[in-house]
Parts: sequence; structure tokens; C-alpha cells
Amino acid sequence: MRIIRDIRDMQSASRAAKAQGSTICFVPTMGALHEGHLSLVRYARTQGTLVVVSIFVNPLQFGPTEDFNQYPRTLEADCAKLEAEGVEIVFAPSPAQMYPEGAKTVVYVEGLSEKLDGLSRPGHFKGVSTVVAKLFNIVKPDYAIFGQKDAAQVAVLRRMVRDLNMDLELIVSPTVREADGLALSSRNVYLTPEQRCQALVLHRALLKVEAEAKSGETSAEKLRSIALSVLASEPAAKLDYLEIVNPDTLEPVEDTSKGALVAVAAAFGATRLIDNVLLPKL
Ligand code: AMP
Repeated sequence: MRIIRDIRDMQSASRAAKAQGSTICFVPTMGALHEGHLSLVRYARTQGTLVVVSIFVNPLQFGPTEDFNQYPRTLEADCAKLEAEGVEIVFAPSPAQMYPEGAKTVVYVEGLSEKLDGLSRPGHFKGVSTVVAKLFNIVKPDYAIFGQKDAAQVAVLRRMVRDLNMDLELIVSPTVREADGLALSSRNVYLTPEQRCQALVLHRALLKVEAEAKSGETSAEKLRSIALSVLASEPAAKLDYLEIVNPDTLEPVEDTSKGALVAVAAAFGATRLIDNVLLPKL
């Protein structure tokens, strides 16, 4: 497995691989890899002949009071996991490489970038779309894999790929959970055992909504109030949002029969977690 730190080296490695007829499947991450990330890597293996994983904690997508400095960085352990998965290339640039002095260009997906997490984390999705566009230009993937866990991110990036005619296919892979339902996240390491237990309320709320939708409830307002009452049963959960929206536009829906995304964000202590479930079209 090659670990590439230099942008030009990554660009030439991709160019050479393509010249030899490889299809490149790309998994962008911020590292601190867990089974959720590895599920994307395994999916990538089935899609492309060359798997590239990036590890880059992107300063541009963190707000000034967020956890950029504290974010777990475990490059050595991450590389060992990726090597065991048979990944060919890890791209791990430095912030100075990615954002040299004088960089002025950003990619901004209007409208979508202010919804859900974008509302409570101003500038977050601008940071995400900018870094992902840059990574796409560097890695030149045929396929890029993202997790359903970050559903709003998927909507923003899908729109970016479509609007800018990026020549790649974006693939979404399901959320991986712990046995008790907690969605895997690099931020779970911040949780105390007590908070980890409290955080299970997110999955309980989503499961309840899913069950009610399955038994025929299609009113988003009713489903939302059902979810809110489950969330209220855990007073330690500081709710940020619970929204039922169109998964492509992130606009609220009134009726879920055409399919909907139920997305939730809440903090447990200082740790903000997100989760979601997709309600299928009836
Ligand atoms: P991150 O390192 O948090 O930026 O995540 C990198 C990629 O892994 C993103 O596409 C995430 O959506 C995905 N991901 C994170 N957690 C999970 C999970 N529990 N299940 C599936 N994918 C995940």
C-alpha cells in the first residue's frame, strides 16, 4: 500500500493507473477509521480496480468553536486497517498542501448548504463541498463512496456533482451501527459510558418513526411528534434538529408516502451526534 502525501504525486499515480485501464474507486475520510469507514472501503473494492482512501481532517469544515484541534488523529492505526483491507493508495495531504496561502476558490452549493447541519454549523457544507471537489480533482475517481450516515452531506455532494458535471458516479453505502443501534462515528470516542447510553435515544426515536411509517402513518407532522416524544424521554439529549425532509432537496415534506429522510442531531454533553433513516416510497 502506498501512502501519498503530495498532491502532484497523487495526481500522477491516478493518471498512471488510468492509463493502465484501472477504474479508481475513492473513499474520502477524516481518519479515526471504524467499521463504518471500512464498510465503504469494502464496497469500493467491489466497484473499482484501484481503491484510494483519503485521510484529511479538513479545517475548512469546522467552525471556530468546534473540535478541529481535538478531532482524533490515528494515521498509523488507520493505515494498518486499510492495508489489511487491501487498499492500494492512502492519500494523506497536510492542510498547508490543500490550502496554500492565497487560496481563494470555494465550492458552494446554494440552498442545500444551509439546511439541517448547515443551519447549526454555518460554513460546514461549504468546507465539505470545497474539499471534496479538490479531492476529486486530485484523485480523479470513477466512483466515490459516501455513507448514508451523513445524509445531508450526500444531498449537497450529489447536487455538486450534477451541477458541475463532474465525471464520476457517487455511491451511497448504508449506515453501520453498533450491536445496540448506536451509529458508528469517530466522535463516539468523546462520549462517557453514561452519555453513550443516553445517545441510544437517537436510534430509538428513528426506529419508532420507521415502525409507525411501516404501519401506514404518512403524516410528517405526526411522525415528527412521535420522534420528539421519544427524544424527550432522554432529558440529557440536547436536540439540535429533528426534520422530515425530501432526501434530495432537504426541504421539509408534509407527506412521507413518496419517501422521506428523517434526520436528527443532538448533543450529549459537548458531543454532537447525527443519525437518520430513509422512509421508503410506498
Ligand atoms: P468522516 O471520516 O466522518 O468524514 O466519514 C467519512 C465517510 O464515512 C463519510 O462518507 C461518512 O458518511 C462515512 N461514515 C461515517 N460513519 C459511518 C457509519 N457509521 N456507517 C457508514 N458510513 C459512515
